[in-house]
Amino acid sequence: MSALMHTYNRLALALSHGEGAWVYDLDGNRYLDALGGIAVCALGHAHPAVSRAICEQAGKLIHTSNIYRIPLQDQLGEALCSHARMDSAFICNSGAEANEAAIKLARLYGNKRGISNPAIVVMEGSFHGRTMATLSATGNRKIQAGFEPLVQGFIRAPYNNSAALQQIAENSRNVVAVLLEPVQGEGGIIVPDEGYLAAVREICDKNGWLMMVDEIQSGMGRTGQWFAWMHEDAHPDVLTSAKALGNGFPVGACLARGDAAEILSPGTHGSTFGGNPLACAAATTVIRTMDEDKLVARAGELGERILNRLRAELADLDGVADIRGRGLMIGVELEHDCAQLMQAGVDAGILLNVTAGKVIRLLPPYILSDEEADLLSEKVCALVTGFLKSVHSAA
Ligand SMILES: *Cc1c(COP(=O)(O)O)cnc(C)c1O
Repeated sequence: MSALMHTYNRLALALSHGEGAWVYDLDGNRYLDALGGIAVCALGHAHPAVSRAICEQAGKLIHTSNIYRIPLQDQLGEALCSHARMDSAFICNSGAEANEAAIKLARLYGNKRGISNPAIVVMEGSFHGRTMATLSATGNRKIQAGFEPLVQGFIRAPYNNSAALQQIAENSRNVVAVLLEPVQGEGGIIVPDEGYLAAVREICDKNGWLMMVDEIQSGMGRTGQWFAWMHEDAHPDVLTSAKALGNGFPVGACLARGDAAEILSPGTHGSTFGGNPLACAAATTVIRTMDEDKLVARAGELGERILNRLRAELADLDGVADIRGRGLMIGVELEHDCAQLMQAGVDAGILLNVTAGKVIRLLPPYILSDEEADLLSEKVCALVTGFLKSVHSAA
C-alpha cells in the first residue's frame, strides 16, 4: 500500500472474486454489488461469455499496434456505430481518452471552418475525466484546484438550462461544440427535464455546433436505452463511451456521425494500445451479450422496480431530499453529508457509492434477479433509515 501514490482514500475492504452481482472478500464474506465498479460491470462479475472471450483471445493475439489492420477493431466499430447510430469510431482505453478525442475532434472541426480559437460549451456539475483537457472541461473546482493553468477554450453553462445556452449562442462567435452528459453521474445523478436534450440539439443545429454527449456512465444500456440521448431522440454528432463497454476490461470509444465522422485523419490522433484485439474481443462480446439477453430493456425494468421501492419507503422520511434516476443510474439525495454510508454499506453487505457529498449512488449490474433487486432496495432503505436516525438523535 505504502508504495502507491496516495490518490485514493480507500476503504479497508479487499475483494478476492465475484460472481454475478456478488463479490467476496478475502475472508469469504459476500457483498451485493450495487456499484459495479462504478458503472463498469454491467454484466456482473466473472460473466462466462466475457471471461471466455478474453481468455481465448489472450491465447491467440493480444496486441499488434494500429500499424496493421485489426479485424476485431473493425467489428467493434461496426457494432458500436450500429447501436449508437453513428458512422465512425475511434477506439481507445478509457473514458478520459474518449473525451480527449472528442475535444480534439471539435477543435479540428472549428479550425477547418476558419475558427482559430474554437470554444466548447461545457456544463456546471459535469465530470469528464482527470487528464488536463478533461479536467478543464469538468464542472467541479475540486478536481481542477492546483492544476492551473487549465486548458483554455471551454465556456461554462448551467446544466438543464437551454435558455442559458441560447444566450451563449447570441453572445459568442467562436463556439464549435457543446459537450454534456445526458444524465450527470458524478455530479449527483442529475436527470435533466424532458425536452432539454432536444432543445440542445436544436440550438446546435441552428448555430452549426457539434452536439457531443459524454455517455461514459449513462451509455451502454444503463438507462434502459442503448444510449441515454435516445430517450429524447436528440441524435448527437459525437458520442463517447467507456466504463461498461468492456465490463471491466479497459476500453473506450469516441464515435461520430455525418461531417464529424470525417474530421480525424491519419496523423491527427492515435493510441498505441487503443483498439487492440483483446480489448475489442471483450467489448464485442459485451455488446452481443446485452443484445442476446435483452439486458438493455431489463436495465430499464430493474431501475423502475428499485426506484419504486426506494420511493415507497424513503420519500416521506425527514432528511431525504430527493430520489431520482433513469434505469440503473439511481441517486438518493439526503439533506446531510453521508460519505460514511460507503463503509456502513460494507458492514451491511452491500457496495454502494456516495457522490456530490449527499447523494447515494447506485449503479448495479443489469443481470440482477428480481429478488436481488428487492434485496438491494431493502438494504439501501435500512442503511438510510439507520443513518437518518443516528443523525437526528445526535442533533
Ligand atoms: C468515469 C467518467 C469519465 C472518465 O472515465 P475514465 O475511464 O475514468 O477516464 C468521463 N466522463 C464520465 C461521464 C464518467 O462517468
